[in-house]
Amino acid sequence: MPKKPTNEEYCSFCGRSASEAGMLLSGLNGFICSDCSNQAIRIFAEEEKKSIKKKEEHLFSDIPTPSDIKQFLDQYVIGQDDAKRVLSVAVYNHYKRLRYNAEHGHQNDVEIEKSNIVMVGETGTGKTLLARSIARLLKVPFCIADATTLTEAGYVGDDVENVLVRLLQAANYDVAAAERGIVFIDEIDKIARKSENTSITRDVSGEGVQQALLKLLEGADVGVPPEGGRKHPEQKLININTRNILFICGGAFDGIERHIAARLKSNVIGFKGDEQRRELDRDNMLQYVQPMDLKKYGLIPELVGRFPVLTHLEALDRDALRRILTEPRNALTKQYIELFKMDGVDLQFDPKTLDMVVDRAVEFHLGARGLRSIMEGIMTDIMFDLPNMKKDSSFVLTPELAAKGLNK
Ligand code: ADP
Repeated sequence: MPKKPTNEEYCSFCGRSASEAGMLLSGLNGFICSDCSNQAIRIFAEEEKKSIKKKEEHLFSDIPTPSDIKQFLDQYVIGQDDAKRVLSVAVYNHYKRLRYNAEHGHQNDVEIEKSNIVMVGETGTGKTLLARSIARLLKVPFCIADATTLTEAGYVGDDVENVLVRLLQAANYDVAAAERGIVFIDEIDKIARKSENTSITRDVSGEGVQQALLKLLEGADVGVPPEGGRKHPEQKLININTRNILFICGGAFDGIERHIAARLKSNVIGFKGDEQRRELDRDNMLQYVQPMDLKKYGLIPELVGRFPVLTHLEALDRDALRRILTEPRNALTKQYIELFKMDGVDLQFDPKTLDMVVDRAVEFHLGARGLRSIMEGIMTDIMFDLPNMKKDSSFVLTPELAAKGLNK
């Protein structure tokens, strides 16, 4: 902008003099008046909004379909078709909601509500694995929190808001990204009241956590301490709106089948003693789980109401355990084969050895969780000698060798 040849100062943008425009700010080669700087701020804000919108539209332009998502999960998780289908649809809809909001802003006619999920299933059946596998695929921030570490404000432990701190960290402190994230809360059953009506201290504290959690789920502005930990009155808080955050919870809900059975007016007591049938029966029970069973178990009705989607995981039978050993992308046997390859040894598993491992896992009642420790028991001594084995040789893990490790 050409300067006017006078000794008075002029705004380099609108050309008005200091006497017309009031105060002028000076830069290296010119001046700006307050009207022009205000207009500049407006233009910058508008441009930024446009670029965020473009970014969000781009982010959700290529949404994986539920069947894409399920196929991806199939690579890591054996069985659990119901849970996979439910999660795939939930993630798909989560993306669609975000895209809808990005396209329509907040003046949409129809508000598409989110569908938080509860997954019920015995420990070691793959709830956390499902959540972790989904995280690999997601384009949105994701975090896993453990409900057992959460306490009501004022008690020893984490404030419920710390769940959001994790999400914020997963989003590299980008608040807008955190606000479209997904949170997985494990062991949600551990904050249940012991029974529907009692109010002894321990139960009340569980209920306090549920109430605090409810606030997050309701879609409120929540102030979180950026570094986590306890809130201090003098600490600066970051505001996160939870309206668009999807919550997925998992829990074993030990004993819930009794409530389901009672509701279904059938009787499980008759099967006690017959382990096989009782387990089978429990399987069947979990697939009938309904929100009212969670209420009976000790979740407050308001919280149950915030989880419109309820799904179950099946107990893992021998066949599933056997497949878990070899089929998933990062199956245990594949991991050992890679470890041996690094030492130039081709490791092979005799199928009978794998059957033996499964037998032990079933015996220990540890589900898939037990497979790793059983395998470690077998492999430790062998891996101790691994560097001394001949390079480019092969090593077959026979049941006899495995039995040595197991009996130790
Ligand atoms: P949960 O959260 O249900 O208690 P996890 O997901 O933590 O159980 O499972 C424990 C371990 O067992 C996982 O690391 C995984 O290796 C294995 N596992 C459990 N279920 C499955 C499954 N359905 N498919 C493959 N691996 C599984």
